[in-house]
Amino acid sequence: MIDYAVVGSGIGGSTIAAYLDAKGFETVLFEKEPYLGGCSSSFSHGGFLYNTGATTLVGYQEGHHVKSMFDAIGFVPDLILSDPSIVIVQNGKATPRYKNFEAFLSAVKQNYPHPKHDEFWSLVKQTGEQFYAVSGYYYSNRALFKKCVSLMSYLPLMVRFQRYLRTDAYRFIKDFYGEISREHMQFLEAQILIVAQAPSGKINFLTAALSLGYTFNETYYVFGGFSRLFDQMTSKMKDVRRKTEIKKIAKEADYYALHTSNETVYAKNVILNTTVYDSAKLFDNQRIKKYYETYEKLDNHQSSFMLYMTIKSEKKFQHHYQLIQNEPFVHTLSSAVFVSFSDPSDTLLCKDGYRSITASIHTDTRWWEEKETYNVKKNALKDALTKSICDMLDIKEEQIVHRFAATPKTFKRYINRSQLGGNAVTMENFLPKLPGNDTPIKGLYHVGDTVYAAQGWPGVMLGVENLRRLLYA
Ligand SMILES: Cc1cc2nc3c(=O)[nH]c(=O)nc-3n(C[C@H](O)[C@H](O)[C@H](O)COP(=O)(O)OP(=O)(O)OC[C@H]3O[C@@H](n4cnc5c(N)ncnc54)[C@H](O)[C@@H]3O)c2cc1C
Repeated sequence: MIDYAVVGSGIGGSTIAAYLDAKGFETVLFEKEPYLGGCSSSFSHGGFLYNTGATTLVGYQEGHHVKSMFDAIGFVPDLILSDPSIVIVQNGKATPRYKNFEAFLSAVKQNYPHPKHDEFWSLVKQTGEQFYAVSGYYYSNRALFKKCVSLMSYLPLMVRFQRYLRTDAYRFIKDFYGEISREHMQFLEAQILIVAQAPSGKINFLTAALSLGYTFNETYYVFGGFSRLFDQMTSKMKDVRRKTEIKKIAKEADYYALHTSNETVYAKNVILNTTVYDSAKLFDNQRIKKYYETYEKLDNHQSSFMLYMTIKSEKKFQHHYQLIQNEPFVHTLSSAVFVSFSDPSDTLLCKDGYRSITASIHTDTRWWEEKETYNVKKNALKDALTKSICDMLDIKEEQIVHRFAATPKTFKRYINRSQLGGNAVTMENFLPKLPGNDTPIKGLYHVGDTVYAAQGWPGVMLGVENLRRLLYA
């Protein structure tokens, strides 16, 4: 009997599976698709390779969870430092988010003049540093008593940051700056949205500060595309089953039976990396169904529209841009598009003289459900984004050699989820309401961006670290 069956090879699933396997537990990793990584994978289309969603890796530095988990697995990733980590372009002005505080500050002062910048950005930077210096907190959802005890471990964080937890970030920023222009606020909002997955009015200032300040940490480009990173991370595992979808899971007295379309695998413990919103359908057991159904209401229907392009170009681009226009794009929730380019030296992801581009913008899953208008909307947004990216980054349309788009429906077809970007940690949806990495059901666990702690590499990895602690592994 297997010790751990891990369902899904996203950041959460692959990392915990590689870790448990390295610790000597008999572990099987199941992935429905031929490639590993989920939202953070790479895939081939028309003979070209693209990163699927995630394009940046943050948290691979001393004292951060990505580094400590990779070290625990014995895995060293193939990375290139991105500095600036992003260049934000708005109204013809480019603001590079340099890791160096003074260099960034000088750019922001020039583009968005305001006397409070020194004070504001120092606060953002210090908040991040202080947050990452606190350790020892954990979160358990197994039983009310365990939950209460785990919440006590948050006291040092709560005490230190209480001032920033009470008010929403929009109010905090407005009060801090006093006068703030619409353009300046849009500059901050766009950066907050890509990390926190919610506008400043819905989150506390601690979350906003961590979102605005992550670029003062090391930000990396993943060489060869994200699926290569997962292939390497899991390369020592004895049992990784690609193209294997788990259709149903039956709970028996002391074990679980996991059914694929042609076999049944038995495991003492199950770790799901599926979204918490639609995990109920995997089970017939009423208690488990009910547990997952309570979290269906957390699905905020937020998702991404993607544009993928390969261009022929020798021009020097940065790895990542956030392009902000004045009004939201049609059929989206945002006026900012995030655009990532392959590194010129990365001939594994894109051949010499060409660049692979992954661009994303927030949208709502429900806007893509109507069959009749689907293609019209998709083409309209694909063209609008292409034009905006070409205009703002000076790319000629004739340089584009391959181009296609993906919607929340495409994600559903491939990786079984249309809601993307995880469970936004808003003021309303904060601890203790977050689903945990353990559950009240013996042997059933969960990792990924819809459960504790949050989305993205740092958020999911905090959950993986938490689970490792809960498993005493
Ligand atoms: C457009 C976009 C851009 C992003 N950019 C960044 C970024 O630059 N940096 C960053 O840190 N984060 C970024 N994120 C967020 C980050 O990608 C996600 O938070 C993270 O990848 C989610 O990981 P996860 O562990 O929840 O797994 P998921 O990515 O949800 O993967 C789950 C996996 O499970 C598989 N699966 C599902 N059901 C089954 C089943 N029944 N059987 C077998 N397999 C199954 C799926 O195929 C999938 O591979 C971005 C997200 C998006 C959508």
